[in-house]
Formats: sequence, structure tokens, C-alpha cells
Amino acid sequence: MRPLVCEIRLNYLRENYLYLKKVHGNKLLAVVKANAYGHGAVQCAQALHDIADGFAVAFVQEAIELRENGITKPIVLLEGALETTEYAEIDKYDLWTVVHNQTQLENLLAYNWQKPATVWLKMDSGMHRVGFFPHNFAAAYTALSQSNKVANIVKMTHFACADEDETGMTEMQIEAFDLACEGLDGEESIANSAAMLRFPETHRDWGRAGLALYGIDPMSKFETEYAIKPVMRLSSKIFSERVLQPHEPIGYGASFYTKRSTRVGVVACGYADGYPRCTPSDTPVAINGARSRVIGRVSMDMMTVDLHDNHFKIGDEVELFGDVVNINELASAAGTITYEILCNMKRAKRIYVK
Ligand SMILES: *Cc1c(COP(=O)(O)O)cnc(C)c1O
Repeated sequence: MRPLVCEIRLNYLRENYLYLKKVHGNKLLAVVKANAYGHGAVQCAQALHDIADGFAVAFVQEAIELRENGITKPIVLLEGALETTEYAEIDKYDLWTVVHNQTQLENLLAYNWQKPATVWLKMDSGMHRVGFFPHNFAAAYTALSQSNKVANIVKMTHFACADEDETGMTEMQIEAFDLACEGLDGEESIANSAAMLRFPETHRDWGRAGLALYGIDPMSKFETEYAIKPVMRLSSKIFSERVLQPHEPIGYGASFYTKRSTRVGVVACGYADGYPRCTPSDTPVAINGARSRVIGRVSMDMMTVDLHDNHFKIGDEVELFGDVVNINELASAAGTITYEILCNMKRAKRIYVK
């Protein structure tokens, strides 16, 4: 069997949830959209079910998959209904839907609900992707609250820069949100992972934890200051090796030349497994727990690493990311973000650790 293994430590997931819930103080949604950021939505939701206040997914099919696998807690659809036909499913499966524009609002009110809906009404407080502008928010709120089709409205917004240093943008968004919500009662939800960790004033009725729930520092730190542990660990093995003389090329494009006599190990993992192809030479890996590095270009199914220490041999374990190599380190070397790498973990064999 190919030795590439994607371990999902569900025990860490639970610990991370409980920690973030303590930080946030109030209720906390576990964001499990995009197959729980590549970790497996059903497995993660089931592992959290007894402790989670609710879950969030992007769209209705993701929510139905959870309902069909025994998830009975609240589920929020972060993108809301994408087609009018989805209101019947939202109604049937008892889902909470975001309403972020006038079309969604009108379609929701036009639908003949069996039971009154719970709506998360989204404000665009500055990210300018979706949501009602602050000056239109009260009107949208009133239209929903005056309808007998709506039981409950949660006011929400989303931050553009909560994971960035000193932009002032988050403070500005909080102020815009609070100002536009004046006089509108009901629950509020504004914090994503970065905001709940860094801005206590974002702790409202519901937090929405994604990245930090999976144990990744949203500030892209290689060593986090928060009590979260990486849930996913990707490891494989060396399945071939050779010694190259100085000034010899390795791999596609001959992008790397040895400087000295070099033992090269070939690892069963490539970009088809979601390991970024643009990862440059010198990016860290850990062989039997000791840090080494990628050399040469990442291929589809394999990659080459420096075995400079003679103790490494065929069959030795290589951690691509997880405990020794933080995934933020890999993402930074590859010029991407951890979210993207996690979501691309679709091929490696899964092992769920309870
Ligand atoms: C994905 C998402 C989140 C979670 O964000 P993280 O940065 O992963 O914590 C929260 N809110 C909304 C609206 C989202 O789409």
C-alpha cells in the first residue's frame, strides 16, 4: 500500500473546539464547509456533535450530507440559498440560512414555509463581497422581522483583515456593524477564528470558528501562541534513494543542482496529492522527526528530499506537515495559504484518530 497517510486527530479537534469556545465565551459554530477544510465534514461533525452548539457549511448540499449522517444540531448555510428551489430543502432539513442580498430576501419571503425560518442576515461592513450595505440593513431587517415566515434573525458580518497586523480595518468594520445594528434586537455573530482570538469585542452571541478549529494559527505563525493543535498530519515514506555527485540536477526542469555529494530520497507524495507544486527547494520536511528539506521540483506522485544525514534510509517516515513542520511554514514557502492546502487533501489515505 502506498505509504501516504493523512491523519485526522479528532481528539485535537475536540480540544480545539473547547478551547475556542472558552475564548469566545458564548455559542460557537464549528465551520465544516468544504468537507471541513479537507478534514472530512461528516467525521468532524460527528466527533464534535455532543459538544458543538452548531455547524456552518457553505451551501445546502453540504448541510444535507450532515443531516443524513445524524447531525441534528443547528446548521447555518453561509452562502444562503443559491437557487429558489433550495428553500424547500432548507425548510425540510431545518437549516438556518444566511440572507445577504435583496433577491435572497424576496425569494425567502415568497416561499411558503412549513415552519418559520431562522435567518442570519448579513451586513457588508466593509469586505464588499456579499451582504447588505449598512444603510440598507435596517430595511432588510424590518422586512424580515415583520413577516410571519421568519421566527428569528441573527445579525452577522464577516471581516476582511482580522488575520492581518494593524490595518485598522477590523475596528472600522466592528464600528460600522454596531452603528447599523442600533435598535435592531436579536442575536449577533461577527467573529471568525482570527477575530475571536485577537479582538475580544467581536465576542457576540455566536462565534464561527474555521481555521483555528483545525489547529492552525490564523496569523500564519509557525508556532502558535494559542492552545490549539494541528488536527491534520500528512506523512509518507522514502521509497527510493541515490547518491548524486556535486553539480548534478534533480527532477523536472533541472531546477536544483547539488552543491556537494548528496543523498537524495524519493518520497511518495506529489502535487496530485495536494502538496503544492510551487513549493520551492529548501522547504522543510521532517524525516523520522528531524528537519530536512525538499530539493528539486515536486512531481505529480513523488518528490525528492535531502537525506544529508546518512542515518536516513528507505522506509523512513517523512512528515510533509503536521507536528514538526507547521503547515503555515509550508504555505508560506509555497506562496499560498493553509486553507488552500488543507482543502486540496483529497487523495491521501485517511486515518481518523479518536
Ligand atoms: C469560512 C467562514 C468562517 C470561518 O473562517 P475562519 O477564518 O476559517 O475561522 C466564518 N464566517 C464565514 C462567513 C465564513 O465564510
